[in-house]
Amino acid sequence: MQKLSGVGPQLATRLEKIGIAKPIDLLFHLPTRYQDRTHITAIANLRPGETAVIAGQVDAAEVRFGKRRSLLVSVSDESGSVLLRFFHFSRGQQSGFREGAWIQCFGEARRGARSLELVHPEYKISPEPVEPVTENSLTPVYPTTEGLGPAMMRKLVQQALDKHLGELEELLPEGIRNQYRLTDLRQAVLTTHRPPPESDTAALMLGIHPAQQRLVLEELLGHRLALSRQRKQRQLDTAPSISGPGKLWSMLQDQLDFTLTGAQSRVVGELLQDLSRDNPGLRLVQGDVGSGKTIVAAAAALITIEAGFQVALMAPTELLAEQHRHTFKQWFDLLGVHTEWLTGKLPAAQRREALEKIQSGEASMVIGTHALFQDKVEFRKLGLLVIDEQHRFGVDQRLALRAKGRTEAMSPHQIIMSATPIPRSLAMILYADLDVSSIDELPPGRKPVKTVVLPSTRRTEVAERIRRICESGQQAYWVCPLIDESEKIQAQAATEVHAILKSQLPALQIELIHGRLKSKEKERIMERFNRGVIDLLVSTTVIEVGVDVPNASLMIIENAERLGLAQLHQLRGRVGRGSEQASCVLMYDPPLGSLARERLGILRDTNDGFKIARKDLEQRGPGELLGTRQTGLQQLKIADLARDKDLIPLVDKIARSIESSHPALVDRLVARWLPSSEKYSRA
Ligand code: ADP
Ligand code: MG
Repeated sequence: MQKLSGVGPQLATRLEKIGIAKPIDLLFHLPTRYQDRTHITAIANLRPGETAVIAGQVDAAEVRFGKRRSLLVSVSDESGSVLLRFFHFSRGQQSGFREGAWIQCFGEARRGARSLELVHPEYKISPEPVEPVTENSLTPVYPTTEGLGPAMMRKLVQQALDKHLGELEELLPEGIRNQYRLTDLRQAVLTTHRPPPESDTAALMLGIHPAQQRLVLEELLGHRLALSRQRKQRQLDTAPSISGPGKLWSMLQDQLDFTLTGAQSRVVGELLQDLSRDNPGLRLVQGDVGSGKTIVAAAAALITIEAGFQVALMAPTELLAEQHRHTFKQWFDLLGVHTEWLTGKLPAAQRREALEKIQSGEASMVIGTHALFQDKVEFRKLGLLVIDEQHRFGVDQRLALRAKGRTEAMSPHQIIMSATPIPRSLAMILYADLDVSSIDELPPGRKPVKTVVLPSTRRTEVAERIRRICESGQQAYWVCPLIDESEKIQAQAATEVHAILKSQLPALQIELIHGRLKSKEKERIMERFNRGVIDLLVSTTVIEVGVDVPNASLMIIENAERLGLAQLHQLRGRVGRGSEQASCVLMYDPPLGSLARERLGILRDTNDGFKIARKDLEQRGPGELLGTRQTGLQQLKIADLARDKDLIPLVDKIARSIESSHPALVDRLVARWLPSSEKYSRA
């Protein structure tokens, strides 16, 4: 690295930290966007949110003492005027803005109190009229790191282009490049870093220029190949081959007051197939909220336990773990199967006891939170690991857990349950390392939840509705989400709402639940809600996933405009589990923006989780859909799954052809795009 001019030992270390060890790596340090400094924009044509170059003369400059002291400079050209705003400025800077001085600025226009403003623009000022300077091509913007600013990064990349572009090796076979008319690699890299003046600026800005798309395709291919390579490696591992008469499972079925749907039976079949193999299965069971994933997991668990192995079930929240514990104990106690419970909040003595039972194998079914994969936990004979609502878990956690269940010779089978339906095309790449089963049918008799959207000014009406519902013997939830993720503030808000509702509805039994309560307390409240002692449960979003109380038929969600579609759908899924017609009130603080109106409208109009997920994906991208931690694809350099999703089927096709006809390329493509993937390849 130090052969590049300007790179000393210190900078080399910094670069290495962000994965740039060789000059060639700089070529794959791709711009995340571009700045357009190719032309001067007339001030009258500036639009909020747009980044542009303007040129004009200073009219006036003054310091304002508002909420924050700021320097305001008014600048005009023939078409109009705009304000520059500086919160940090020196005396010299301030006196430089003389009336009549000629100025050129580059910055983002924002709507200010009186007019458009450029906050802290870059600028050049001169007492004489000067010819405005523009660039003749787009300026790439790179991810930077502490101690390595944008200008330096640009210089380094340009140097690498001059000296090392020729070392880049085309990895995509010629046949494939010709067939899909893909830009040649060097050309693609060069254009992306140094767009020629005549190139299609609009396409480049959007990231859809053929040069960029060629790199996008190769990057997605790298990820897709990495995941399927991981799947192949897993198949080399040994797992206990589990099968049996299924006596326990038949006994449980005899006790249920329902029979499995066709979709459930099919998925149970697929799970049992996996268990019977002697390499570890990894299957995602996806099914909309309320489709009945739990009983399917219970079936696989009983087969495993009957064969003498242990089963662990991990849930993302304590509340959900508690709910599962309740369900499984109810089902398994009668069968004489011992269920053990482990969360981070257990008192020391109880915890020690639980750990002992897990280690001795006395605990056949172990249910808990992420506490399950802490160091102290040792299973005697773990055969199956079930993870519920996986989008809450990061890939790291998933892999750590898998590592935990593996002994010298054996890896457990794994089932991941998710209520976030991933559109097919995305699943092709996000889930390339696992098998997918879908419970695509709801239990019979479910009536879709009726949803209305109301302003918070109509609270009294809503309270009245709760009163009616509860008087007829049903139950309700009132959820208070806040943008603020802090549990403390959420809990405060819910506490206030709880107090207000109690005074409005004195005849009802109203209780409050949130993440800051002691486990025992939460357990006690959920148990009372389960038994129907509590009419209305006021809560934070802790009840989002998994909570299952069929008698609850009304869900009120405050500030619904602040939540994602998938999350709202999850919350709404807490009702409509019984035979009564359920309803959901999405309450918002007016005024409601047009996008928010559209979003809430989608929920009002459909109960179909797939449709909702697709919309969410269109509007907010997969990061939101899958939770912030996402899956394995968090470090995409140039691809954007929302923008580039239509490429995925092609990526899949090319991946298959490379795997079968050019297997030697797999490792090289993976190494190019995921240099750190080795860390997981054996996990
Ligand atoms: P989810 O897929 O959201 O995890 P659950 O497993 O919690 O759904 O099931 C939701 C509810 O539906 C539970 O009360 C469960 O007992 C019930 N249920 C599951 N399968 C069936 C079925 N085949 N028929 C009727 N009710 C069912
Ligand atoms: Mg569930």
